[in-house]
Amino acid sequence: MNEHAIDLNSYPAYIYDLAGLEDHIAVIRASLRSTDLFYAAKANPDAEILRTLAPHVDGIEVSSGGELNHVRKTLPKTPTVFGGPGKTNEELALARRASRIHVESPSELARLAPLGSADVLLRANLPLRTPNAALTMSGPFGMDEDALNECAFLLTDHPQITLHGIHAHLASGLDAPAMLKLAYRIAEWALPWLKAQGVDNPELNLGGGMAVDYLRPHNRFDWESYGAGLSLIPAKTRIEPGRAITAYHGWYVTDVLDVKTTHGETYIILRGGTHHLRTPVTKGHNQPFKVLTTSGPESPATLVGQLCTPKDVFARDVLVPPLTPGDVIAFTMAGAYAWNISHHDFLMHPKPAFHYIR
Ligand SMILES: *Cc1c(COP(=O)(O)O)cnc(C)c1O
Repeated sequence: MNEHAIDLNSYPAYIYDLAGLEDHIAVIRASLRSTDLFYAAKANPDAEILRTLAPHVDGIEVSSGGELNHVRKTLPKTPTVFGGPGKTNEELALARRASRIHVESPSELARLAPLGSADVLLRANLPLRTPNAALTMSGPFGMDEDALNECAFLLTDHPQITLHGIHAHLASGLDAPAMLKLAYRIAEWALPWLKAQGVDNPELNLGGGMAVDYLRPHNRFDWESYGAGLSLIPAKTRIEPGRAITAYHGWYVTDVLDVKTTHGETYIILRGGTHHLRTPVTKGHNQPFKVLTTSGPESPATLVGQLCTPKDVFARDVLVPPLTPGDVIAFTMAGAYAWNISHHDFLMHPKPAFHYIR
């Protein structure tokens, strides 16, 4: 840790462990063999994180014109793939410079076609059941078989659009065996379909969504077996994980402002709040944490922030040592879907500092 870069007298602060992230991405890259690895910028688009990942990935997956511009500015030489529902015409025009566009609907394809040449994957929303997923990406995402066939028909009139394959990000929160099973079922449907459309060298983008276990942080996604399993698919495979790459390498560190007991419940009120770290609210979990400044016999308390809402809870009824104002707590696993998904301006408290371990 570089003590010049990290002023621990100022809370709250995000600390990103770029050195740890670099080790982690190198291991993931090696496990994936011939599968392309794209990082989903929406998990955490911090420029230092993007620069740390860039040498180890094949590119960055972006989901908006804003992300595309940010990634191009930060990493001018790194390939991008462009996905996301509800693309505007301006975004489609920008996206033509991406190495692949993930088309979400026949009407999107019809709006893309007049813009000139483009390399596309069609995003499929196949009726495959995913029992243990944290989120299933059904609903508005991608296309059913009828809509995919409609796209194939449209493409026959538009030789400037090159169809390379199928994109299918169907679920998130799955472990490696479940993800592999899903990948095989996608391939089983997609490869014959692509062959029927005359696609040589088919590509399958199998999305992201690799499980991150916030309650048991040591329970990690098995990249080795996933990479080995994907290598059996007779196509060019590509994945675009976000959370499982960066979640482990961020901390939100803050100090205790007040401790009080109300109606028999003990509350630890921390500087900052879920307007900086929204992850526990969106995921409905207790954010894992470490108390850095004290130890002793533990008793239950609820860790909250400074917001005037009962939803501003980091962790409910968790065991903590005796805490007093000034004690410091580090929330772990705050490197993905944390700062960038939070409602920073609610209540107008100061923003956290950002520090990087290199
Ligand atoms: C969000 C998203 C990802 C990344 O998902 P993670 O759960 O962060 O791995 C990848 N692809 C698409 C299409 C997405 O919407």
